[in-house]
Amino acid sequence: MRIPLSNISMNGSETRAVGEACAAGLISGTGPAVREFEQLIGRRAARAHVVATGSGTLALEVLLLALGVGPGDEVIVPAWTFVAPAAAVRRVGAIPVLCDVDIDTWTVDPQAARSAITPATKAIIAVSLLGHAAKIDELLETGVAVIEDAAQAHGGTYMGRPSGSLGLASVFSFHANKSISTGEGGCVAMDDEDLAEQVRLIVNHGMTSARPYWHDVVGTNARMSNLAAAFGVAQAQRWTELTRGRQQVAARYRSELSSTSITHRPVADWVVEGSWIHVVRVADRDAVVDHLRRKGIDARPTWPALSELPAYRVFARSSCSVAAELSRSTLMLPTWAGMGVDVQSEVISELQSAAAR
Ligand SMILES: *Cc1c(COP(=O)(O)O)cnc(C)c1O
Repeated sequence: MRIPLSNISMNGSETRAVGEACAAGLISGTGPAVREFEQLIGRRAARAHVVATGSGTLALEVLLLALGVGPGDEVIVPAWTFVAPAAAVRRVGAIPVLCDVDIDTWTVDPQAARSAITPATKAIIAVSLLGHAAKIDELLETGVAVIEDAAQAHGGTYMGRPSGSLGLASVFSFHANKSISTGEGGCVAMDDEDLAEQVRLIVNHGMTSARPYWHDVVGTNARMSNLAAAFGVAQAQRWTELTRGRQQVAARYRSELSSTSITHRPVADWVVEGSWIHVVRVADRDAVVDHLRRKGIDARPTWPALSELPAYRVFARSSCSVAAELSRSTLMLPTWAGMGVDVQSEVISELQSAAAR
């Protein structure tokens, strides 16, 4: 593909930071860059505690384990999202109860979430899908613990509060195509000190440096390496540049692609979208994607609804029709910080001609 879906923005500081970590021989999960990265993210997410992990999916898994979620428990997950939150719930042995999304935010429908609650419900994973926060206060009113999956929401806000700060705890992903990257990586961000201690224990084999090889709890190795964290420190220092860069690209898509055949996700007046990959809705989605791909543009259909996937459809107890409809009518457009105006213009004009057919 000539025009990729996403591109990592590096300015030399990442290479330098990784080189320094190598030169110092600090490459495993116990190096100082890990703590520095956690502190930088904690500041952005307005959280007292951050624990870095090897991926966003692992962050969800260790958070669920730390909350004591396991077999017999249920966790409410939106039926339309990248698969990770549902997979994480399965990986800890619990049931991901799929719940429909609402048409104005494309995030968990609070009404549907409320109806999905049973005595076994332990948490709701509110995915800030495509950078748009869910209706967090309505979800909190259910009394169930809310976890924010902010993997796609770096730089977004909900009622002035940053994504990553919402609910009992949040997770970020720092995969290469996310707005801030460590290559592969993630973190759990939270305010509760006891929860943070549990997460930290589980991430590191259930062990503390105070008493090596002693295990009060069963843990795993979900650590982020110091190499990845060094890269991440350099990226986190560019947080504003990298998140605004994507917001600018999204704003241009919104202003230049406005027709009856191409629509954008509505943005509630109580959020600032933390732009990640810009998604549009079109009538004949598959034909539009085919056209763009033939032109060398890596546009992609969005995720199928989880309620339609073999591995997850058994977990849908109610209709997820909005999720199904959005999954069939939306596509992802190339988006990255620093995307050139010429490159974006080409995507815009090819999209316009495909949608006009
Ligand atoms: C990317 C992503 C994750 C997990 O990310 P990895 O770091 O790739 O494991 C979790 N949730 C959502 C919504 C994502 O988009």
